Amino acid sequence: MLTRFAPAPTGWLHLGHVLNAEYVWGSGARVLLRIEDHDRDRSRPEYEAGIYQDLEWLGYRPDIIAGRQSDRDDVYREAIEILRAQGLVYACDCTRSEIGSGGAPAAARAATHAGDDEATPKPLRGGVGPYELRYSGRCRNRGLPLVDGYGWRVRTDPGVERFIDERLGPQEQDPLRQCGDFLVRDRRGNWTYQFAVTVDDWRQEIDLVVRGVDLLPSTGRQIRLARLLGRERPPAFLHHPLIMKSPHQKLSKSDRDTGVRDLRARGWTREQVRAAVQSGAQR
Ligand SMILES: [Zn+2]
Repeated sequence: MLTRFAPAPTGWLHLGHVLNAEYVWGSGARVLLRIEDHDRDRSRPEYEAGIYQDLEWLGYRPDIIAGRQSDRDDVYREAIEILRAQGLVYACDCTRSEIGSGGAPAAARAATHAGDDEATPKPLRGGVGPYELRYSGRCRNRGLPLVDGYGWRVRTDPGVERFIDERLGPQEQDPLRQCGDFLVRDRRGNWTYQFAVTVDDWRQEIDLVVRGVDLLPSTGRQIRLARLLGRERPPAFLHHPLIMKSPHQKLSKSDRDTGVRDLRARGWTREQVRAAVQSGAQR
């Protein structure tokens, strides 16, 4: 089996990442390290260097270093052509506020832009979660050109995706009802989280995805997308508990008190850091 550890270089590693790493390396699968810098605006080289340094210090060693998503633009272009050839991709000029006028709380709307990172617990990461915005399909038949400056969406048919989570058991999700036609590329030309990870997991032959339970709602659409791309068998999924700051608040990158390098500077050992996440995970 091959799994992956896939942090975004948009902040320092913190205890949320460490918990994910415990599950990833604890799965018994070989581990591929992928730097999820699909959001070029928010990714920073110093954070990427920090990921390597902190993983080394913590004692997690990847079996394969797959590098950055930003170096794989040709792979994503090849994949989008597979969808375009099926007539599944269209351009959308709706603003976030137009899509969000359906009544989602303003905080949730803001949070959908806050970033996508497989290994970081964050409210509404990737735009998924209880306040997820559902796109109406307004631009489906408008025939806008697929160029930079527009978002690109994938036409999503009705239908339930079923999968068995290795911890949570059988799951059912209907992506059209959850989110509608989802973005694969944003108007600034960034490949989206949903698209980039689905393509990567397929092309990098990942057959076990281990990530936080906050990403559970996006699994159905990733399975759907993988099938549309031509992946014959989806990976297995395991969604693990998150470390909570309080019963209702997840950790985020702004929580400096949980940063690995801050804890290290305060004299924590790697054993203490790894033990802290084991006891802090909410079951
Ligand atoms: Zn639109």
